[in-house]
Amino acid sequence: EPVNVSEFMKQVIDPYKEIAETQNKTLYATEDATKQVVFDPKRIHQLLVILIDNALKFTQEGDEIEVFSTIKNQQWILEVRDSGRGIPDKEKKHVFDRFYREDSARQRETGGYGLGLAIAMWIVKNHNGKITIRDNQPKGTVFHVEIPF
Ligand code: ATP
Repeated sequence: EPVNVSEFMKQVIDPYKEIAETQNKTLYATEDATKQVVFDPKRIHQLLVILIDNALKFTQEGDEIEVFSTIKNQQWILEVRDSGRGIPDKEKKHVFDRFYREDSARQRETGGYGLGLAIAMWIVKNHNGKITIRDNQPKGTVFHVEIPF
């Protein structure tokens, strides 16, 4: 059944704004489409939570996280952009593998099994969509998601 994208985004993102603030980071949403789209809100919520959790994990004080949403060419485009440490090119193709964690992440004390992005990929594929990684400018990572409808 159709869901209002703006309302959905607000519900997902609002709690994370406070979490980011306590870490002295800025998290905000940008959007240029307020449409009704048919999607599985539970799954897309889970997808965004995975990407936002990672963005919070791999950024430091003063960094920014932007969650962007738009509708273009019959597709819902979602991006989680962070100004964190980034993902080296040679790691990019591996991060969606189950149990993969980049070396420095493996050494982190704080949990994580390297499952998040494998689940994210699964959710996107179930919506016949695509998820790709880009470098953010001047630094950090962009997770780009396209979901057709
Ligand atoms: P889990 O999600 O199971 O708690 P995790 O975050 O380590 O653990 P994934 O979400 O699958 O696992 O991410 C895999 C790896 O990709 C991470 O360990 C990290 O090296 C890298 N990664 C993911 N997101 C980012 C990001 N926003 N910035 C930098 N590196 C990232």
